[in-house]
Amino acid sequence: MPVSDQGNAVTVVSEAVCEQVIGRQDAFTAVENVFAAMAKQNAYNFPVVREAIGHADALYGFKSGFDREGKVLGLKSGGYWPGNTRLNLTNHQSTVVLFDPDTGRLKSLVGGNYLTALRTAASSAVSIAHLARKDAKVLGMVGAGHQSTFQLRAALEQRDFESVVAWNLHPETLPRLAAVCEELSLPFETVDRKELCARSDVIITITSAFEALLDSDWVKPGTHIACMGTDTVGKQEVDPRLFARARVFTDEVVQSVTLGEAQHAIASGLIRETDIVPIGDVINNAKPGRTSDEDITLFDGTGVGLQDLAVASVAAELAVSENKAQILEL
Ligand code: NAD
Repeated sequence: MPVSDQGNAVTVVSEAVCEQVIGRQDAFTAVENVFAAMAKQNAYNFPVVREAIGHADALYGFKSGFDREGKVLGLKSGGYWPGNTRLNLTNHQSTVVLFDPDTGRLKSLVGGNYLTALRTAASSAVSIAHLARKDAKVLGMVGAGHQSTFQLRAALEQRDFESVVAWNLHPETLPRLAAVCEELSLPFETVDRKELCARSDVIITITSAFEALLDSDWVKPGTHIACMGTDTVGKQEVDPRLFARARVFTDEVVQSVTLGEAQHAIASGLIRETDIVPIGDVINNAKPGRTSDEDITLFDGTGVGLQDLAVASVAAELAVSENKAQILEL
């Protein structure tokens, strides 16, 4: 029988199994490694496709790429279905499809919803690990939506934080952050945005805002800020003048200047594309990160497909080794 007619074993990993097999530490390592590979040009994200499909108000798209170092090839497909809440489903839906880079054959189908939150939290956590002051004590959270508790838990593991302050446009969702802090026996306070900046050593913004929520003048020297919400043209979370004061880092420069938080600072001429450093260069010790306790470091976490592929690949491996994957013959 020609090779092409032989059966193809495909690993299927459900959302529930993903939650059982992969946690924050594995996600952190996978995301850190892929950022490092991207900076060495050993891993590439392909152009993103994102379209309004004219049905169910949905935005649908593909994020794909290839990591030559990790030998991970594939795509994350899905998008945003605003009516899903009525159906008791998450509005963001995604599935990761992995292919064998040696043959192009389908390798794994992996639920992408939990992994998206996990890899996004890993991204800001990697930025904190590499860029925040070692003596950071207060974490400020801007945003209290679905992603926020993942962000909070991952961030808290990076430094010896002693307390958390938080603000959200919709205060009714702040108790979900308070609950995590209570579980971890950490003091938690809701504050206004100016006080949040005055008190925080590390700030994470994870909102769907379309205007600056934080004024540059409020952010004190030494702060590390991870801007994680802006992943689309027109979205915005911080004052673009902050970029002119900060040392700026990102997951991928092309995305940062077009659809990330930096789009506004670039458009107003406050910084140039060449001012933005891929965090992989810091991980690889090819470029400096924080250079003094007074630096403001700003990480523009735009979210790249390779992050999804990296965590999905690890989830698939772990699910197989723990006998939790379903195997289908195609
Ligand atoms: P969510 O809908 O659960 O929560 C949205 C959050 O933004 C809430 O805190 C809400 O109160 C707040 N918000 C909504 N409208 C606002 C406004 N106009 N001004 C200020 N705050 C506002 O969403 P989520 O899943 O928590 O995601 C939050 C954001 O992160 C989204 O914009 C999403 O697209 C983005 N995101 C980014 C990445 C990445 O890799 N960078 C990955 C996943 C999600």
